[in-house]
Amino acid sequence: MIHIGAHVSVAKGWEAMGKTALSLNADTFAFFLRSPRGGNPKPVVPENAAALRAILEKNHFGTLVAHAPYTMNLCATKEYVKEHAEDVFLGDLQNLEDYLPGQYMNFHPGSHVGQGSDVAVPIIADALNRLMEPGQSTTILLETMAGKGSEVGATFEELRAILDLVDPKLQDHMGVCLDTCHVWDGGYDLTDIETVLEKFDRVIGLGRLKAIHLNDSKNPCGAHKDRHEKLGQGYIGMDVLKSVATHPKLQGLPFVLETPNELPGYRAEIATIRSWFE
Ligand SMILES: [Zn+2]
Ligand SMILES: [Zn+2]
Repeated sequence: MIHIGAHVSVAKGWEAMGKTALSLNADTFAFFLRSPRGGNPKPVVPENAAALRAILEKNHFGTLVAHAPYTMNLCATKEYVKEHAEDVFLGDLQNLEDYLPGQYMNFHPGSHVGQGSDVAVPIIADALNRLMEPGQSTTILLETMAGKGSEVGATFEELRAILDLVDPKLQDHMGVCLDTCHVWDGGYDLTDIETVLEKFDRVIGLGRLKAIHLNDSKNPCGAHKDRHEKLGQGYIGMDVLKSVATHPKLQGLPFVLETPNELPGYRAEIATIRSWFE
């Protein structure tokens, strides 16, 4: 069995996210700690965070997957953009450490904006080495990307290259979040899930795979677009998504929907996924 949930809004506070997840019959979820475009986070209300922790514990939730803002680019060439990205990373990580320890925080490795991935990779790793602490409880996940624009991390090799440069003292706190839409758009043909997972294992190691974003794609394999689609309504298709969610090597992981849905759509998709395990 997997843990399954959706990306939910933080707008009504932390406890409300837990209640929303319960209303979806979810037992994990993803969320932004602040606007996906950056901005300042609303201050966390400690009682509100405690109420969320109680919901998670009482209902046996799997690990949550907090999503850093899309605009956070740790390998930006403009110094103020890079500094802001580091502030955002640290701020979100600190909120998790203070109020929701032991969860995952995934981020888009970055956009190399013309300098090339081979230049960007050590810059990203250097930021992680300065911003993370060996004693932290949060595990940081690099997200697999679609290869849109100058995105870093569209190949397993690029993610591995970042991981290789992370300080050995921080390695226990590093993992990968695989987004099915992104790897598909990046050219990994999920219709042959065995080959994709073998390749992931050979290049990165399956032990690093900590979370899945389960999304269909509006585009064919290799399109490098990153447009999510509802499950079964895109090019990946329901049978292939089912083969991912039910794969023996992926059991126990949190699976998060980022499909273009409102809450009823998420509730229906979660029900479909749960039916695969009956
Ligand atoms: Zn993402
Ligand atoms: Zn995406």
